Amino acid sequence: MSGYLAGDPEPTAECGCCGGEAVAQWCGVEVGMIQIAPFRCMDCGAQLDPIVDAERVTGWVPADEPAEARITGYYVNDRGGVISMTFDQGHAEYNDMMGTTTGGLLHRGWVRITNLEGYAIDLPPFMTARTRRALSELLARIEDERGWGVPYMKAMDEDRGREAHWTEVMAVVSRLPAEAGEEKRSGLWR
Ligand SMILES: [Zn+2]
Repeated sequence: MSGYLAGDPEPTAECGCCGGEAVAQWCGVEVGMIQIAPFRCMDCGAQLDPIVDAERVTGWVPADEPAEARITGYYVNDRGGVISMTFDQGHAEYNDMMGTTTGGLLHRGWVRITNLEGYAIDLPPFMTARTRRALSELLARIEDERGWGVPYMKAMDEDRGREAHWTEVMAVVSRLPAEAGEEKRSGLWR
């Protein structure tokens, strides 16, 4: 726990689990603000030094990971963080909560993976090295442990997707640029 002086910008932290931006809660005192709740990642819900069962835990603690059988999909964010989706908290609910859309997140370099109506992967127009690494590990793990079958892959600029083994998905990914194109830099997508 810490604090900051009145007039200074509110401190944020980089999430130790997914690299997302974490924010804390602050309370005003005479000279500034003191922290009254742990930093919590806005992308994956991990907390820094939280109190669990009445004891302080040091370091980043991931949000409760849903049981494997309940997982219906994922977002892989542009920092390589993997956010699990379930029947109750799917992509639509995540977007509602965060004020985002799947299209907007794809344009930020996120990947959407769903296994609700078949195993499908939506690829963004560009992908960072950290996202590539996380995606490759995740797809290999799904292949080994899940029995979701062959994914239906859809690239951003295609109207229709196609079935592709995960290694073929990674071959397509390897040809994506590592940075956003003009439309991202112009601020068209947020
Ligand atoms: Zn996070």
